[in-house]
Amino acid sequence: MSTHPVVDILPTVCHWIGGQRVSPAATRTAEVFNPASGRVIARVALADSAVVDAAVRAAASAFPGWAATPALRRARILARFKELVEEHADELSRLLSREHGKTVSDARGELTRGLEVIEFACGAPHLLKGEFSDNVGTGVDVFSLRQPLGVAVGITPFNFPLMVPMWMFPIALACGNTFVLKPSERDPSAPLRLAELLHEAGLPAGVFNVINGDKAAVDRLLEHPDVAAISFVGSTPIAKRVYLDGTSSGKRVQALGGAKNHMVIMRDADLEQTVEALVGAAYGSAGERCMAISVAVVVGDDMADQLIERVTARIATLKIGAPDDPATEMGPLVTAVHRDRVAGYIDIGAREGARLVVDGRKGTGLAGSPGFYLGATLFDEVKPQMRIYREEVFGPVLCVVRVATLQAAIELINAHTFANGVALFTRNGDVARTFAQKIEVGMVGINVAIPVPMAFYSFGGWRQSLFGDHHIYGAEGIRFYTRMKCVTQRWPAPTPGDAAFVMPTMR
Ligand code: NAD
Repeated sequence: MSTHPVVDILPTVCHWIGGQRVSPAATRTAEVFNPASGRVIARVALADSAVVDAAVRAAASAFPGWAATPALRRARILARFKELVEEHADELSRLLSREHGKTVSDARGELTRGLEVIEFACGAPHLLKGEFSDNVGTGVDVFSLRQPLGVAVGITPFNFPLMVPMWMFPIALACGNTFVLKPSERDPSAPLRLAELLHEAGLPAGVFNVINGDKAAVDRLLEHPDVAAISFVGSTPIAKRVYLDGTSSGKRVQALGGAKNHMVIMRDADLEQTVEALVGAAYGSAGERCMAISVAVVVGDDMADQLIERVTARIATLKIGAPDDPATEMGPLVTAVHRDRVAGYIDIGAREGARLVVDGRKGTGLAGSPGFYLGATLFDEVKPQMRIYREEVFGPVLCVVRVATLQAAIELINAHTFANGVALFTRNGDVARTFAQKIEVGMVGINVAIPVPMAFYSFGGWRQSLFGDHHIYGAEGIRFYTRMKCVTQRWPAPTPGDAAFVMPTMR
């Protein structure tokens, strides 16, 4: 055994509070992995209550000044921030990919979707306009204002470390709120870099803060009296808890949870296009997307047989490998623990009696790699009572459920606990229209496998995929991050004897 003290040369990802990096001397930490190599590449500081309180204090003291800053000036800072994110797009994508494991091109795609939300938020002066009615009674006018809430908090998952925070803070800031972001402790570096770019764009100190941490930090944020609103994105059990605890302590909460997204494939669908879209949606980003397709519902056995044959052939050519290799289509999973959990579901599915057509535990071509790789898996003959159908697996595992009719497909999907996204592939407009009307899911794609709404719409699922009243970003985001005030005003003419006030209903 060495008698020398162990020198830890790993960098520690710290916090960003009051316009600067903050590294508390004594702190709990967690390991951050590079999923492609399996190595620990950094440690992340885990905030305790004192750190959370310092971040909320910084945000609360910056709030009055930021809320009073004209919306146009706030938007200009965001516009400068957008330019900086674009200039640093390559750096940010590589930083993200190194800790998450998704391909660099996927990371770049994620960043693009985040940039679109900043673009939307730059329209704040228009988006915050209220309503006005003149002369509702004689000499009486009414107008409405949208005002910021105060300190808003974002708690985000590992799978989109840039895009999901960018669904939240550009809109919160544009509306005049200050913000505390608590990113996932599994890939914390890229979100922290956003704080530096916001600072460089001219954002005043304290308006945007990042605290890294785990459950302890979230618990403190949920009870903190100076937190006005919480946007959460993550798994359903945590989303539900954040919603219940946050609202019971008087906060406004939107909590987006897990998913099990279906793709319905009709007999008339273009098979080639459908297979390409399905493989991309099921296995892209190793299935670690909340809008990934994890169930193909195929109408008709003949169609199911053809689809399975083609998907199997396509899986055989799927390039799994290093995320920074431009030829790679699928990288590793985020951690060894998560990879093993997903592999465990392959066991469960096989035990439950589903037909294991392709077993991702075999033949990835990466045998012996210390990275957290798992190949694409395909199950046929999956039944609704099986755990691999009911539960979110969040990995490259695709289940095929065979049904006889569109009606059976709709009933199956409408009975599922999760209702985030859904897709239908068909050439029939009437079928597409019926589906869009009858399906009880928040986001619907017609011949579009991953129907993530554009920034000027809003993102959100139904049932156990979202807790709260507002979807995220877009017009719903503006509503979530503001509260309405209605002013009824009268400026009495300085004429003696005509000062009597009369409500509209009285005259
Ligand atoms: P997660 O629920 O484990 O973590 C999300 C956040 O909650 C993280 O910041 C984490 O630190 C924190 N957290 C974890 N455990 C906690 C606890 N016990 N108490 C308080 N806070 C806790 O989710 P994840 O594994 O990081 O992300 C994957 C999940 O997120 C999947 O379920 C996926 O479907 C979901 N997701 C949903 C959407 C959506 O829009 N609906 C988008 C992306 C991801």
